[in-house]
Amino acid sequence: MNEWNYKTIIEPFKIKMVEPIAFTTEAEREKLLEKAGYNLFNIPADKVTIDLLTDSGTSAMSALQWSAMMRGDESYAGAKSFFVFEKTIRDLTGYKYIIPVHQGRAAEKIFFPIVGGKGKIVPGNTHFDTTRANIEASGAAALDLPCRQAADTQSDYPFKGNIDLAALEKVIKKKQRSIPLVLMTLTNNALGGQPVSLQNLRETRRLLLKYRIPLFIDAARFAENAYFIKLREDGMAEKSVSQIAGEIFSLADGALMSAKKDAFANIGGFLALNNEELTQKARKALILTEGFVTYGGLAGRDLEAIAQGLLEVLEEDYLKYRLRSTAYLGEGLQKYGVPIVRPAGGHAIYVDAKRFLPHIPVSQFPGHALAVALYRQAGIRSCELGSLMFNGKAKMELVRLAIPRRVYTQSHVDWIIEVFGKIAARKKALKGFRIVWAPKELRHFTARLAPF
Ligand SMILES: *Cc1c(COP(=O)(O)O)cnc(C)c1O
Repeated sequence: MNEWNYKTIIEPFKIKMVEPIAFTTEAEREKLLEKAGYNLFNIPADKVTIDLLTDSGTSAMSALQWSAMMRGDESYAGAKSFFVFEKTIRDLTGYKYIIPVHQGRAAEKIFFPIVGGKGKIVPGNTHFDTTRANIEASGAAALDLPCRQAADTQSDYPFKGNIDLAALEKVIKKKQRSIPLVLMTLTNNALGGQPVSLQNLRETRRLLLKYRIPLFIDAARFAENAYFIKLREDGMAEKSVSQIAGEIFSLADGALMSAKKDAFANIGGFLALNNEELTQKARKALILTEGFVTYGGLAGRDLEAIAQGLLEVLEEDYLKYRLRSTAYLGEGLQKYGVPIVRPAGGHAIYVDAKRFLPHIPVSQFPGHALAVALYRQAGIRSCELGSLMFNGKAKMELVRLAIPRRVYTQSHVDWIIEVFGKIAARKKALKGFRIVWAPKELRHFTARLAPF
C-alpha cells in the first residue's frame, strides 16, 4: 500500500461481531478490589472495562479463521486439519517434523526433559517464565544473556532483544559440553517485547556452528519481530515479512511456538524439528501427555484456526497497524510524563513504575500500586512485572499493558491515555502495598495484599 501516505494508520479490519464491555462504578471497583485481596487475577473478567492483562489467547479471530473452524476434521488420527496445519508450518519454517501441542508450555514440557537434564545449561537472550520453569524442572540451568543495552529502559537501541555474543562465547568456552542448545526468544517478551536483529541471529548461528551447538527459536511473536527487522535493519526494507521470517527460521534447527500470540488463536502451539531422533522422543512424550501425533491436545478446528492465523499474521498492513498502535499508546503515556521502556515493544507497553512513583519504595511494590490504581480509576486491568511477581529477584519495577490483537480500537487507546493523565496528576497520593498472604512459588497469581 505504498500510495497510502496518510499519518493516521487505521485498523485494517472492520467489525463483524461485537462483544459488550463492562462499565462499573468506583464504589463497585473498590469493593471488588477488597474482595480480591487487591490481586487483579482475582477480579472477574466481566468487571473489567479494558483488559490488558495479556495478549495471550485474547486475539480476535477473523471471519476466515471462524469459517476454517467449521471445516475442522475431528478424526482421531490423520485428520485433514492436521495436514493443513503441518503444511502451513512447514512452508513457513522449512522444518520437517511438525508436532501440535495445546499451548507453548506443553512444547516446553515435552522438549526440555529430552534435551535438558541435570548439569546442562540452556543460554538464551532472556527466557520467558514458563520456559525457564520447564528448563529448570528438567534439572538444567536457564541462563539469560541479554545485550547490555537492554538494562537501560531509556535507551532507544533498536534491537534490545539481542543476545550478548561475547558473554555467550565466554560461557561456551567454559561449558561447551554442558550446552545442549541455545534458545532465542522472538520478540524478547521478558525484556519489553523488544526485537532481535537478523544480524544478531546470523552471528549467533555462526558462533554456534563453530562449537557444534544447535540453535532453537521461541517463535511466539516471530512476525512482530520480522516486521521490526523490516523497519529497522539495514537492507531489509525491500524484503517481505515472509522472506524475513523464512530467513529467521533457516538460521535455526527448530522452533517452539505458543499459537496464542502471533497465530491469533485462543489456544494451541507447536514444536517444529529437523532431527528425527529428537522427533521420535518428542512424539513419544506427546502421546503420553497431550494426545496422538496428529492432534496433540487440540481439536481439529483449533488446528485450522492456527493454520489460517499463521497466514494472516504475515500480512504487512496488519503488522504495520499492530506495531504503530502499540507505539501510539506509548507516545500518549509519555506526553503525560509516564516513563515507559523505550522504544515501544511489539505486543505491549511497559511502564517503569519505579521511575513513575519514586515515593513508593520497591519493598512496597510500586508496580502493583500503579496496577491497582488503573483498576480503581477506570477498570483497566494490567499486570505487574516487578518485585511482587519476581519475589525479590526483579531487576525493574514494571507494569505491562499487553494489547490483545485486533480487539481494541484507537478510541479505546485514547481513553486509556486519558485515564493515565488523571492518575499522573495525583500520583503522589498513591500508596504502596504489603503482602497479607502468599504461596512460596508463583506468588503473584494468588497472593492477597493490603494497602498502606
Ligand atoms: C506465552 C509464551 C510462552 C508460553 O506459551 P503458553 O501458550 O502461554 O503456554 C513461551 N514463550 C513466550 C515468549 C511466550 O510469550
